[in-house]
Amino acid sequence: REGRIAFLGLGHMGGPMAVNLVKAGYGVTGFDVVPAALDAAREHGIPTAGTAVEAAAGAAVVLTMLPSGQHLLDAYRGTGGQPGLLEAAAPGTMFLDCSTINVDEAREAAELAVAAGHHAVDAPVSGGVVGAEAGTLTFMVGALPEDFEAVKPLLDVMGKRVVHCGGHGAGQAAKICNNMILGVSMIAVSEAFVLGEKLGLTHQALFDVASAASGQCWALTTNCPVPGPVPTSPANRDYQPGFAGALMAKDLKLALNALQSTGVAARLGPLASEIYDTFAAEGGAGRDFSGIITDIRDKSES
Ligand code: NAD
Repeated sequence: REGRIAFLGLGHMGGPMAVNLVKAGYGVTGFDVVPAALDAAREHGIPTAGTAVEAAAGAAVVLTMLPSGQHLLDAYRGTGGQPGLLEAAAPGTMFLDCSTINVDEAREAAELAVAAGHHAVDAPVSGGVVGAEAGTLTFMVGALPEDFEAVKPLLDVMGKRVVHCGGHGAGQAAKICNNMILGVSMIAVSEAFVLGEKLGLTHQALFDVASAASGQCWALTTNCPVPGPVPTSPANRDYQPGFAGALMAKDLKLALNALQSTGVAARLGPLASEIYDTFAAEGGAGRDFSGIITDIRDKSES
């Protein structure tokens, strides 16, 4: 494989994604600010560098999988007088960010990269840690057409579906729009199940009707928030994630920021953000986001 990849951010997602690139024959140099993540990476066969800048120097691709847009912009620009990745990398380097961040930050990062003579692609993922390990992630990509073609082989190694959504920031936009639908629909499905309980309806009866009628959606038919109707849903294993409440709260905050910066007259998106913030703060951060149904049930009149 031509060109080395600097892989920055070897956490829950980045670690296994980097392993898949190594297995596919790519030259990878990993870096993470947490020493334990570096140790784990080496144990999995990923060579590591002492600093981010060292990893990026001479790399053909700088791939980032970081917690937030602020982490990304700091890494690109450098902090405390230290050089950033944009300066450390050779001109023409591909800056491929797979983190989930604000659309505005993704566009800013891309602008900085392009201004420094590089290429920029935003490619956030869905599929979670299970998808990262199995190489079955979905990538939502914001890129110029030629840059999309350049990164597609790499993304194909780590994912099974790669969708070109438009120019810079379009990948992030697609991700947060989808997850806003998901957050809102999970709350709706959960409220309907609790209402059904109050009205004496069995979970199975409501499922049988709604799953074959106009209430049908992923939150109902794949990630059903009550145990029973869909045996593989997290509700059947005491709401172990799955998709953790903290991540849903994070993604809805990004959606909220985008709603506010664009001035959309949305009401359910902001409300879902508030509801999942409370869920995460009250013990739901590490539970599957479908556990919201227990909150609704607990807060209902008995
Ligand atoms: P994580 O916290 O496990 O990993 C992030 C890693 O980045 C950490 O190991 C951290 O030490 C490292 N890091 C921070 N600053 C750094 C820097 N300057 N240089 C190098 N490393 C640095 O998070 P994660 O679960 O792997 O998620 C990563 C991104 O993927 C997030 O944006 C998240 O929203 C998104 N995401 C996560 C999931 C999921 O299921 N975990 C699913 C889809 C998308």
